This record gives sequence, C-alpha cells and structure tokens, in this order.
Amino acid sequence: MLTQAPKGTQDVLPQDSYRWQRIEDSMRRIAALAGYREIRTPMFEHTELFQRGVGDTTDVVQKEMYTFNDKGNRSITLKPEGTAGAARAFIEHHLFAEPLPCKMFYVSCPAFRYEKPQNGRLRQFHQNGVEVFGAKDASVDAEVIALAMDVLRANGIDGLRLAVNSIGCPTCRAAYHEKLKAYLEPRLPSLCETCRDRFVRNPMRILDCKEDAAKLTDAPAMLDSLCDDCRDHFEKLQSYLRALDIPYEIDARIVRGLDYYTKTVFEIITDTDNGPLTVCGGGRYDGLVEELGGPDTCGIGWGMGVERMIMVQDARGTAPEAPALYDVFVCTLGEDARLEGVKLVRELRAAGLRADLDHAARSLKAQFKFAGKANAKYVVTLAGDELARGVVRLRDMDASEEKEVSRGALINEIKR
Ligand code: ATP
Ligand code: MG
Repeated sequence: MLTQAPKGTQDVLPQDSYRWQRIEDSMRRIAALAGYREIRTPMFEHTELFQRGVGDTTDVVQKEMYTFNDKGNRSITLKPEGTAGAARAFIEHHLFAEPLPCKMFYVSCPAFRYEKPQNGRLRQFHQNGVEVFGAKDASVDAEVIALAMDVLRANGIDGLRLAVNSIGCPTCRAAYHEKLKAYLEPRLPSLCETCRDRFVRNPMRILDCKEDAAKLTDAPAMLDSLCDDCRDHFEKLQSYLRALDIPYEIDARIVRGLDYYTKTVFEIITDTDNGPLTVCGGGRYDGLVEELGGPDTCGIGWGMGVERMIMVQDARGTAPEAPALYDVFVCTLGEDARLEGVKLVRELRAAGLRADLDHAARSLKAQFKFAGKANAKYVVTLAGDELARGVVRLRDMDASEEKEVSRGALINEIKR
C-alpha cells in the first residue's frame, strides 16, 4: 500500500521525463508561433464552476469529479479539464477588456477524473490545451485544429483521423432536440440506463454513447437541422481545412452535448489494438463565458491527453530516443585527481557541458563502466601522475579514440 501509487495514477520516472519535456517544448514552441501565451490556473476550483462550466449533465460532472469539502466547508473540486478554469480567469481578470482575441495555452496541466482505470484512462492525467476567447470566425476553428495537428505531428504522431461536426447553436438545437426525441422515444427500452437518463437531460449525448451509438446510426443528425448561420460557419470551417490541406471526416456522432457548446466540435482519433482512442477533443463554446457570468464572448479550444500521446508513440514505435545523460564523464584515480575532478566538472558545467564524476568511490573500472552505461560522449581520466605533467586522457566514446590533452586545452578540445 505504502509503496504503491493510488489506482489510476502514474509516475513519470527520471529516465522517461525527457519524453514529456519534448512534448511540452513542442507545445510551447508551436503555440508561441501562433501568438498564444501560457495560462496556469489552480489545480482546484469551486465545485460550482465545473457544474456550470462543464455542465451538470455530463459524465464528467455527474460521475467523475474529485469533489470534497475543505476545512472551511467549501465544496472544492480538483479540475477535471482546463477550459472552465481558463474561462473563470478570463472573466475574473477582465481579460475581455484587453485586445481580443485572447489566445492562451497550457502544458501538461493535471486533470482529475474518477474513471475506471483502463486503456488510456487514468484518474490523474495531463492535458495540453489551447483556448481562444473573442474570435468568432471559422478561421480560428481551423487554426486551433491545425495547431493540434502540428503538435501531434511534431511528436511523431501522424496518420490520425480528424472528425468534425457541428452541434449548432441554441436557436437551431431546440428544434433538433424535438426531432431527436421523437426518434429516440420508441427506442428507449433498448437503450442503456445512462442513456434513458440522458433522454430527459441531454438527448444529444445518447449519440455519443459507446454502448448504444451502433443501434442509432439512422438517427436524425444535427447537421441536417443547422440554421443558416451555423451552416455557413461549418462550411467555412471545411473550406479553411481544405485550404490548409488538413484531411477531415464529418462525424455526426461527435457531440459535446452541452448547452453552451456551439457549432464546431471535433476529435482527433487514433486506432489502437483496443479500438479507437481519442487523443484530442475540442470545440467552440460561444455560450460559456456568459454562462459563467462574464460578457457575451465566444470561445474555442481543445484538450490533448499527454499520456495518450505517449501511448500512441509507444504503439507506433515513434518514441524519441533518450538523450545521453552526459557529454563528459570524469573518471579519477587517487585523492588528488578527485579534487581536480570536482573542479573540472564544475568548469565543464559552467561551459555548458553536461558533466559528472563518480560520487561513490568506485574503482576506475567501475567508473568506466558507469560512463558507458550513461552514454557519455567523452570520458576524461584524471590520474595523479599524468596530472603532475599537466595532461589528462580524453576518450571519444563514439569513435573509440583516446588521446592525451593538456589540462588547460581540455574544454576547448571537447567543445571543438
Ligand atoms: P473520452 O471520450 O475518451 O472519455 P472525453 O471526451 O472525456 O474523452 P475530453 O474531456 O475531451 O475527453 O478530454 C480531452 C482529452 O483528454 C481526451 O481526448 C484524452 O486525450 C484526454 N483524456 C480524457 N480523459 C482521460 C483520462 N481519464 N485519462 C487519460 N486521458 C484522458
Ligand atoms: Mg471521458
């Protein structure tokens, strides 16, 4: 118990963290190129924010939140996703008064959902994400999708399916709900219990049900009921995607199913041995800021599961190679040499080289072996008698070549 992390959590170990850093670096680089700046919001918020901001008919809010009362008896929830907190910050700090659009991103942001741990499902996971507030044109929908594709591709994850859909706006959705309910009503007895509950609260979510969707392939589609404005937006999005050479498919089953989600919704999906896995999901939420008490401001964003990216890299064999831990490993023989070694290592580091020496008083042979295992590019050997002559031995591990170099010229020699 004591030495076992809680179910649904994962450690990122020192030998693996470079993979997270690569993903994080690419996210920062690609987002910055498009004028996005980082936002960091608290790990917990008032529960009500998610009830309103994610929507109390969603699985996330109904079943998956980590909610508790703090010592002041406030209901607190560990954030299950990034958008609600970003929208809260946008309102609280009056970012709507700054020039819009306000473009933001987050990196490896922890998210918590009480889910059954299984293929690609954790209880603490991490998301990269972007949010854009105050841009209504479909060009920004295409931009955020392109960014997601670029981040995935930069990490060796391509060949993904982009599925897009439009779930309309409150104007056209009300009429659609009636049509959908008329279609669903006679079929209710054959649907799962959750869907029978959804029928009342949020019928569109039924189309997204992993159990029932297959039985409902002839359901009326929101796409056929879009109002002119929503239809126009969806068509523009598609022409932007085509202009950007981003292949997509239209999938009427993708619904995010909240009142304030509007128009564009999308998922980026990969096929695994255990079936389809969504790596990234997003959509437009033109009603969210107002719903949370801010001024009427449109928005769009996505969240991308970092653990799922890593899973896909593993499945495809596209994980990046681990970088060598050291440029230089310093081996020493004798106490005088160790003193010199400690100094040399500090100089090497100051010169921007990754360097270390043995801290366990191991034999010279064991030090060489360690240097080899650590993939050091160079091994420098300091021994008392050579030091007395002002020289050290420098071994190029890749070329398996060794030579004597004067102590004074060593760092330049390595940098060369
Ligand atoms: P799913 O249909 O897989 O449950 P979702 O709609 O709940 O996904 P979103 O809320 O869109 O997921 O979250 C965005 C992304 O975060 C997902 O595409 C996925 O990559 C990742 N994600 C969501 N839930 C989990 C989880 N429990 N464990 C790991 N990653 C997750
Ligand atoms: Mg989910």
